[in-house]
Amino acid sequence: MTRVDQRFEGRVAVVTGGSRGIGREIALEFGRGGAAVALCYRDHADEAKLVADELADAGTRAIALPCDVSKDRDVAEFFERVVSTLGPVDILVNNAGVARDGLFFFMDRAQWDDVLAVNLDGAYLCTKAAVRGMMVRRWGRIINMVSASGHVAQLGQSNYAASKAGLVGLTRALARELAPHGVLVNAVSPGLIDTAMTKPMKPEAREGLLHRVALGRTGRPDEVAPVVAFLASGAASYITGQVISVDGGLF
Ligand code: NAP
Repeated sequence: MTRVDQRFEGRVAVVTGGSRGIGREIALEFGRGGAAVALCYRDHADEAKLVADELADAGTRAIALPCDVSKDRDVAEFFERVVSTLGPVDILVNNAGVARDGLFFFMDRAQWDDVLAVNLDGAYLCTKAAVRGMMVRRWGRIINMVSASGHVAQLGQSNYAASKAGLVGLTRALARELAPHGVLVNAVSPGLIDTAMTKPMKPEAREGLLHRVALGRTGRPDEVAPVVAFLASGAASYITGQVISVDGGLF
């Protein structure tokens, strides 16, 4: 049975990149916890609609809308629609992310810019759009999806690592600024999780990484989502500015 302080009745949760992978599981987890859920996607409208339908079938108020988190206008319109449809945003999960791996020497400007724009600027824009209402109501939870790659060096991920390490910095700085306003800001740092993002990984790279995972296996999105929900819950009321690793014991 779910503890009372881990339920979200009356709360509105936004999950960016909720159409697939980890974001999909987070959206479903908040739905199970009783929140109204808004998710956004960039390309995969059908998958996003399936998630919203699954939530609605379970009795959750849910919407799935297109929004490229790296675009100011998309983000402004998305949050306007969320607030007018579901109400003010209480919980924001900056989950949308992309990887465009390549060795730094060969990495062109677009590869760098795209990853920084989605992973870091996207979190900036969405947080900007949601934070004012949270401060006014003196309650809010922001959870940023970072990565083990932000603190453990991976070949070919300089752009991705920079974006995620930047997001850790944003998490810590914002936690300090927003604490007096009742808004808690934390990050979740997954290791190697089975999603579309990690599918293209070469088998030898995957094996090499798994040798450094204490549990010796990849993780599943449904092993990440409950940690995000915990950080958004009343049970985590004394936790802010933290990065919680969900990586099977990466060493
Ligand atoms: P995924 O399966 O590739 O899903 C990515 C999600 O982000 C999709 O919903 C996608 O939407 C959305 N998205 C991408 N660019 C977007 C944009 N510009 N605007 C809005 N939505 C956008 O990836 P995942 O593995 O679930 O990753 C989720 C988060 O966890 C990311 O931040 C990733 O960096 C992080 N992470 C993943 C792992 C891992 O091993 N998988 C490890 C550490 C951290 P569409 O469906 O429309 O494309």
